[in-house]
Amino acid sequence: PRQTQIGLMSHAELVSEHETQTANYAKLETEKLTLDLTRGKPSPEQLDLSLELLTLPGTEFRDAAGTDLRNYGGQQGLPELRAIFGELLGIPVANLLAGNNSSLELMHEVLTFSLLYGTADSARRWVDEPVVKFLCPSPGYDRHFAMTQALGIEMIPIEIGPEGPDVHAIAAAVAADPQIKGLWAVPNYANPTGVTFSEDIVRELVSMPAAAPDFRLFWDNAYAVHPLTDTTEPSLDVLGLAATAGNPNRPFVFASTSKITFAGSGVSFLGGSTANLDWYLKHAAKKSIGPDKINHLRHVKFFGDADGVRAHMQKHRAILEPKFALVLRILEDRLGASKIASWTEPKGGYFISLDVLEGTAARVVALAKAAGIALTPAGSAFPYGKDPEDKNIRIAPSFPPLGDLEKAMDGLATCVLLAATEKLLDK
Ligand code: PMP
Repeated sequence: PRQTQIGLMSHAELVSEHETQTANYAKLETEKLTLDLTRGKPSPEQLDLSLELLTLPGTEFRDAAGTDLRNYGGQQGLPELRAIFGELLGIPVANLLAGNNSSLELMHEVLTFSLLYGTADSARRWVDEPVVKFLCPSPGYDRHFAMTQALGIEMIPIEIGPEGPDVHAIAAAVAADPQIKGLWAVPNYANPTGVTFSEDIVRELVSMPAAAPDFRLFWDNAYAVHPLTDTTEPSLDVLGLAATAGNPNRPFVFASTSKITFAGSGVSFLGGSTANLDWYLKHAAKKSIGPDKINHLRHVKFFGDADGVRAHMQKHRAILEPKFALVLRILEDRLGASKIASWTEPKGGYFISLDVLEGTAARVVALAKAAGIALTPAGSAFPYGKDPEDKNIRIAPSFPPLGDLEKAMDGLATCVLLAATEKLLDK
């Protein structure tokens, strides 16, 4: 029988496979596709789930305490909304604040405040340090790394496994180097690997000795309530665990409703110790007289309580699950037997992480682009955009309708096989 495992093919079989995929690719080019798998954006159908927000909060404008939310003030955000998300994130209301629409903006603020003023535990401002370094579990979220790089922070890649990042490597680095001031972490259904950190790993991260007294975990829980199966992975009480371990100020927790309600008009959250929130609010007060509390009220009215959020997320799941299933089916059908690719089967979140034959990811992305299929640039899930093995591709299935997704994935599979045969034939 004909060999299907590309790595085991004879030269003649490889040449024939290359011809087949070249023909498939030529056919793909004639289809003149314009498809986009680049960003984890909710689809219009998902946004429609929250349409009612546009008519809320009606003529109401007071919180439970009677405060007029139309006015300035209320720096920490609406308590009722913080209670709902505090329950979902495992954070006491007093340790959670609600902000404007973007958690990425909160991360940027915490970073720039640390650079310009120093943290609550810093001996000096981070800009006055000879160098500031961050540990970056990779593949990770490209915008974390882009932000870190833009602010002049040196990035050190750390491997991420099925249970979370390599804590032994992290512990060794953090104990030895006082210039390591931060670690990026997406603890639940990570972007792009789908990994949820195990409790052991979380405990290690909050308790490991650090040479820098102002070492911080940038705990981006963007996908806390985004399961694709019947069981939601819980959000561990990272603040409580850190406090118990004697490092209460180590974690800064971030979250938002960007993938819950409207990606562009949701609510962001910042969780931290009292000292960290006081520090944040002191500096934030210099740039704003308070967040959009009417939007907070709108979200309270829309959800009612934490169960309201959970029920709402099941509606997202119903839309997303078939898209993820389709991507996984095409990957298996088109690439399974070839054994040149592997991919994640996430239980939540927004992404599938695809590893193609080493040294071919950039070529795959270029081939796909030329055929009208836009993918996140190869390497973008790594610090400085450099995938050391040039093999990782992030797939974001949420936005395109099923028909487009099918075409895009089938086309992508052709590009993966073509690039692999090219590489093995040294073309
Ligand atoms: N963090 C992660 C891990 C994400 O994947 C995303 C969106 N893709 C964000 C943050 C962006 O969050 P926000 O919309 O709240 O700025």
